[in-house]
Amino acid sequence: MSHVFHRQSNAAYPVAVAGDGPWLIDDQGRRYLDACGGAAVCCLGHSDATVREAIREQAESLAYAHSAFFTTRAAENLANHLIARAEAEIPDNRLDKVYFVSGGSEAAEAALKLARQYFLEIGQPTRHRVIARRQSYHGNTLGALSVGGNQWRREPFEPMLMPATHIAPCYAYRDRAEGESEEAYGRRAADELEAAILDLGSETVAAFIAEPVVGATAGAVPAVPGYLTRIRDICDRHGVLLILDEVMCGMGRTGHLFACAEDGVSPDILLSAKGLGAGYQPIGAMLCSARIHDAIAGGSGFFQHGHTYMGHATACAAALAVQRRLHDDGLLDNVGVQGSALRAALEAAFGQHPHVGDIRGRGLLLGLELVADRATKAPFDAAVRLNARVKREAMARGLMCYPMGGTIDGRRGDHVMLAPPFIIGPEHVSEIVEKLGQALAAALESTP
Ligand code: PLP
Repeated sequence: MSHVFHRQSNAAYPVAVAGDGPWLIDDQGRRYLDACGGAAVCCLGHSDATVREAIREQAESLAYAHSAFFTTRAAENLANHLIARAEAEIPDNRLDKVYFVSGGSEAAEAALKLARQYFLEIGQPTRHRVIARRQSYHGNTLGALSVGGNQWRREPFEPMLMPATHIAPCYAYRDRAEGESEEAYGRRAADELEAAILDLGSETVAAFIAEPVVGATAGAVPAVPGYLTRIRDICDRHGVLLILDEVMCGMGRTGHLFACAEDGVSPDILLSAKGLGAGYQPIGAMLCSARIHDAIAGGSGFFQHGHTYMGHATACAAALAVQRRLHDDGLLDNVGVQGSALRAALEAAFGQHPHVGDIRGRGLLLGLELVADRATKAPFDAAVRLNARVKREAMARGLMCYPMGGTIDGRRGDHVMLAPPFIIGPEHVSEIVEKLGQALAAALESTP
C-alpha cells in the first residue's frame, strides 16, 4: 500500500526507476518513450551526464545558502547567462533582472505581486487589476489559478479566487471567422485587450498576462502573427505591464530560447520554469525589466515577496548546465529539424483523420485537437474522457504523451500534446507517430 498522496487516487502508477536518454524505465524493466517531456519539462531527456556532474559538484561544495544572507556563484552565473541570451535574441529586449523560484506557479505569483508593488512604488496605487485570457494556465496556487482561464481547474476554488478579468484567447482554429485573414483576426483578438482596459479604466489595470503558445489548457496553440505585437503596443499605450508566461513554451521548446523572440516582442516580465532546469532540479524564474527593478531599488528597496528555496544553489547549477548544453551544443537546431519532421509525420498520419480537427504548435511543442465531428468541430462528450483513454492506451504501448481537456465554449474538449526531449532523432519521431496512432485508434474503439 502506498502512503504517497497521488493526485489520481485510484490510478496504479508504474514505478519509474531509471532514465535513458528519451526513455523512462520502470521497475519491471518496461521502457516508455517520453514524447511529452513529462509536462514539457525534460528537454534533455533523463540521463544527461553533464547536468548530473554539475549537480554533484555544486552539492559537494555548497548545496544551499539562504537568499536573505547570501547570493551564490551559481545564481549569479545563471542570471548572467539568461540575460545575455535575452539581449542577444529578443528584439528590443527589456529583460534585465532574474528572480529565481522553484517552479512555474511560484514565478506567476511573484510576477503578480511584482506588478502590483511596482505601481505602488511609482505612485500609481490604483493599478491592481490583472487581465488574462479565457484559454490559459498559469499555475495551481491561488493567485496563479485566479488569472488562469481553465474553468475545470478553477471551478471548485472559485469562491477563494481573487478577481481577474478574462478576455478571448488567440485561438484561430475556433475563433477566426470564415474569410477573415490571420492578420485581421489577430487584430480583432488583441483589440479585446484594449476594450477591457478601457472598460475597467486604465488607471486601475496593472498587468496583462498570456502564454505566447498556450500549453496545458489547449494543446500547443500559438498566437497568429502580429497578435503579440499589437498586444505589446496596447499595453504600452495604456501603461499596463505585459507578463508573458513561457513556463511551458520557453527555454527552446519552440526552437527559440524565448518564444516571444519569434513574435518580435519583449515583455516587461517573463516567466520561466520546466525546461529551465529540464527536470534535473525544480527551478523557475521571473525575469523583469530594469525599470521595474529600479523602481523598487530606488523606492522602498525591498520586494515584499520571497520563498525559502529561492535561488537554490544546486538548482541554479543544474539549470546553468542545462542552458549551456542547449547553447553550446546547438540543440535548438535539432528542435527545428525534428519539430518539422514530427509535424510533417503528424500531418501525414492524422491530417485526414475524422477525429483530429487541428494539428498545430511550434518547434517541439505540438498538439492535436480531438473532435467528435471534423466539420462542426464539436468536441467529444466530456464524460467519455477521451484524453484519459488516449493516455492509458499510449502508456500500455510504451509511449508517454500529454492528453488534456481544456474548456472550449463552456464545454471540455480533448487534446494531445507532444513535447519530446530536444535530443530525439528520426527513429523516435517515427515511433511517436506510430504508437500515437495505435493509442488513438484503441481509445476511440473503447469509447461508448
Ligand atoms: N504556467 C504555465 C504556462 C504552465 O504550463 C504551468 C504548468 O504546467 C505553470 C505555469 C505552472 O507551473 P508549475 O506546475 O511548475 O507550478
